[in-house]
Amino acid sequence: MDRNQALFDRARHVIPGGVNSPVRAFRAVGGTPRFITRGEGAYIFDAEGRRYIDYIGSWGPMILGHGHPAVLEAVLSAAREGFSFGAPTEREVELAEEIIKLVPSVEQVRLVSSGTEAGMSAIRLARGATGRSKIIKFDGCYHGHADALLVKAGSGLATFGTSTSAGVPPEVVQHTLVLEYNNVQQIEEAFALHGAEIACVMIEPIAGNMNFVRAQAPFVQRIRELCTKHGALFVFDEVMTGFRVGLHSAQGLYGRLIPGFKPDISVFGKVIGGGMPLAAFGASRDIMAQLAPLGGVYQAGTLSGNPVATACGLATLREIQKPGFFEALGQRTRQLVDGLQAVANENGVPFSVDAEGGMFGFFLMKDLPQNYATVMTTDKERFNRFFHGMLNAGVYLAPALYEAGFVSAAHSEADIDATLAAARLALK
Ligand SMILES: *Cc1c(COP(=O)(O)O)cnc(C)c1O
Repeated sequence: MDRNQALFDRARHVIPGGVNSPVRAFRAVGGTPRFITRGEGAYIFDAEGRRYIDYIGSWGPMILGHGHPAVLEAVLSAAREGFSFGAPTEREVELAEEIIKLVPSVEQVRLVSSGTEAGMSAIRLARGATGRSKIIKFDGCYHGHADALLVKAGSGLATFGTSTSAGVPPEVVQHTLVLEYNNVQQIEEAFALHGAEIACVMIEPIAGNMNFVRAQAPFVQRIRELCTKHGALFVFDEVMTGFRVGLHSAQGLYGRLIPGFKPDISVFGKVIGGGMPLAAFGASRDIMAQLAPLGGVYQAGTLSGNPVATACGLATLREIQKPGFFEALGQRTRQLVDGLQAVANENGVPFSVDAEGGMFGFFLMKDLPQNYATVMTTDKERFNRFFHGMLNAGVYLAPALYEAGFVSAAHSEADIDATLAAARLALK
């Protein structure tokens, strides 16, 4: 029997659905998930020894590819010194300094172990700092699986919180309002109705959890104005986009489009850990002073700022700052998406693409969607056939049409060419 199938059968006995995070189970696309045995540069290898060009990169962290020598060396040497002390270490300070240097809106950061934790803490901080309860998020944006954020759009601007998960009491989501992404009118109406009660607006500036949808600059600018006017905080969830779409993250890009633009609180994860469990949230010194031990907003973690994880994250951040890194990564990613668009055009398949830095999305539709409802009109059958066609040809794309893709610095021109050759066959 196929070893992936055998492992999956074994896994399902002892782990719910056989996986430790749902999307890995291939439920959306069908078929057997590949059990990965190792990674090397742009490639991962499954339990059958088959090689795949990896466009998931652990959902974003592996911006240098797998097993980058400098990162590996940093991790091994940190591990020799000790795995965890539960006491402050110098590398935490270095990592904080590095993040602050690259992201000017952030004057202080707190390190945590997952994006979920960082997002959840950012909300608590925003509520603590403003003394308000209500939060606004957008349909299709994912901010981790904290109770208050697992909410779907209600039937109107006055209806708060319907949870997308069992086990979340209605009381816990009653303060969460979900609006349509890129809809300026809705956010204006929401502030007109609830402005004085809103603690924060949280957004994925380039939404990677509905494939790849950019927040339009006028939309971001309007949210910024409304937050400032009403005393609410603007939270940029850059867990996916941070140090991935550019050296200064998505806020660097919006800063060029909107003069003087800054979010109030930023959330990071994925790339800052380089593949280790590490995430962070940061803001101005004033806002961060609300956190314990200085202020009244409690937040803590046994493994927070873990010495091995910070070594991995630091080595990764240092590599991506080398001259020309993002130019080269952006060009490689462009080569991929432009190539996919050309192949789709040859075959008369409705198709659109977008990319920024090392993050990309493609859609089986003529025009780029602007919100979640449009993303979800994708022809799922067609996507699934394309996905499996690519997988069988040794190209590992995200197993769901609402996930972004990632290119690493280890992807070569030849890897892109091989991917496009596979796409040519799959799209036929
Ligand atoms: C991945 C992700 C999270 C959650 O991070 P975890 O480390 O999986 O908990 C939060 N927000 C965004 C935008 C993400 O992409």
